[in-house]
Amino acid sequence: STVLMNGEFIPREEAKVDIEDRGYQFGDGIYEVIRVYNGKMFMAKEHLERLSASSEKIGIAISYSISELTNLLEALIAKNSLSTGILYMQFTRGTSPRNHGFPTDDVTPTFVAYTKLLQRPLENLENGVSVITVEDIRWSRCDIKSLNLLGNVIAKQKAAEAGCYESIQYRELSVTEGSSSNIWIVNGEKIQTHEANQFILNGITRQKIIQLCNENGMELEEKAFSIEDLIDADEVFLSSTTSEVTPITSVNNVPVKEGKVGEVTKKLQGLFVDAIIGECGQ
Ligand code: PMP
Repeated sequence: STVLMNGEFIPREEAKVDIEDRGYQFGDGIYEVIRVYNGKMFMAKEHLERLSASSEKIGIAISYSISELTNLLEALIAKNSLSTGILYMQFTRGTSPRNHGFPTDDVTPTFVAYTKLLQRPLENLENGVSVITVEDIRWSRCDIKSLNLLGNVIAKQKAAEAGCYESIQYRELSVTEGSSSNIWIVNGEKIQTHEANQFILNGITRQKIIQLCNENGMELEEKAFSIEDLIDADEVFLSSTTSEVTPITSVNNVPVKEGKVGEVTKKLQGLFVDAIIGECGQ
């Protein structure tokens, strides 16, 4: 396959990073994952704006404009003839002798992007997934989409060891988010998810769901809820770029209501698919 490295298209095997790249040594960088449907990026502008916001929050200067990045990513998709999949991209602070403080301004960020085939998770969308709850041990700047993912990695591994798809993290009594997803509960017609602050990543899928709720007169509150609220909810679902709107049918081995996918979740799934088709076609 062809990958993008520092603005050039090269074969996957030729893409190498230095052992003193700060992404490798410190996790000092940021990333995005963008869904590709029908060869077209979904919500690319929102992803690239979040990338730009993340880069500003940690002081990495990206020398490409959003439209330049869009053109490069579109060319990457075309070169790999990708239809349904994802595009991964990351910027690190660059290569420099190891030292915690930032290097001098002449050190340029390392930029890598590549595509991967990935079908829509149709079975999970239809039947739902199981999750466990775990303590949120991460730092307090989870709003930055940083390469420092150790807390998330450990949480996801606990889910895997429990035979589950995802871990739902909690900080003190509040549910924050999944290891790689945002978490939602539904009671009656009311939908609730953690407010966008420094304790969660404001998912692009989350933002689309909020927009769809507003456009369709669905009741929505952006406010943290407790583990008890999670256990007692009528419906629970998670959202992410790769998982879209995935129903959660069991939490800590206990079924959510009757363990069936809820009606509000199904409605949002339908609206979300319409949004995909609207932007990327059938
Ligand atoms: N929270 C975390 C910690 C994540 O890693 C992700 C997925 N990247 C999300 C939420 C969902 O974000 P998005 O909808 O932009 O994929």
